[in-house]
Amino acid sequence: MSGFSRVLGVRFNNVTHNEALDILEEFFLEDKCHCVYTPNPEIVMAARKDEEFMRILNSAELVVPDGIGVVIASKLGERLKERVAGFDLVQGLFERIKDKKRSVYFFGGAPGVALSAKSNMEKKYPGLKVVGVNDGYFDEKKEKLILDDIKNKKPDILLVGLGAPKQEKWIYKYKNQLPVKICVGVGGSFDVMSGKVKRAPKIFMKCGLEWFYRLLCQPSRFFRMLRLPLFLLVVLKEKLFG
Ligand code: UDP
Repeated sequence: MSGFSRVLGVRFNNVTHNEALDILEEFFLEDKCHCVYTPNPEIVMAARKDEEFMRILNSAELVVPDGIGVVIASKLGERLKERVAGFDLVQGLFERIKDKKRSVYFFGGAPGVALSAKSNMEKKYPGLKVVGVNDGYFDEKKEKLILDDIKNKKPDILLVGLGAPKQEKWIYKYKNQLPVKICVGVGGSFDVMSGKVKRAPKIFMKCGLEWFYRLLCQPSRFFRMLRLPLFLLVVLKEKLFG
């Protein structure tokens, strides 16, 4: 069992990327829906202001830090071993299941995105079984159809990419009805899988500068990103003054 590290109230599993993948494989053996979330600093800050969201995050079976800011912040307490990006975790999971019976369902993103993500991922991981896709824009009627489709297809893994906190709240609401073993909140991952959005070159990731690359590509994220230094200041303040 992994240890934990709390960052501003959010409980993270202290695991490496490979240890997280091993835990996911264990989840297949148990007959229930295991929730997996990957908060970054923005999400941690949002959870501080939203009690329900904080409870949902802390009720998950696996929570890993998708953001170098969370790893840096953890150094003031129990240090997290490394950043475990949600996108990489899902890619690692595809690699591990591609030759097995396990199936996956893509739910989220703009119309057409999940479908092109499916086609790209099935090419990249021959043998991968994506048994269903649906975009993430729905009303009550469409939501029921989506739920019925997931129940009929019974995927082992459900990836939900509605952005935070919508995806975590959606998963929490329906987890007891979902016939899946693992449900992951994947944010904008379908946009990357489909090729609509590019990930940072490896050198940026190695240096912990993926956030900077995203800022260069999407300057409109500037104000969103101001929350990162604010996040580190809040963590420091809490450590010093409680
Ligand atoms: N999205 C969706 N339904 C919604 C709102 C958002 O499917 O009602 C999708 C959106 O198309 C995008 C993702 O959710 O693919 C959110 O991406 P973002 O990069 O903002 O999420 P993050 O990874 O930062 O949580």
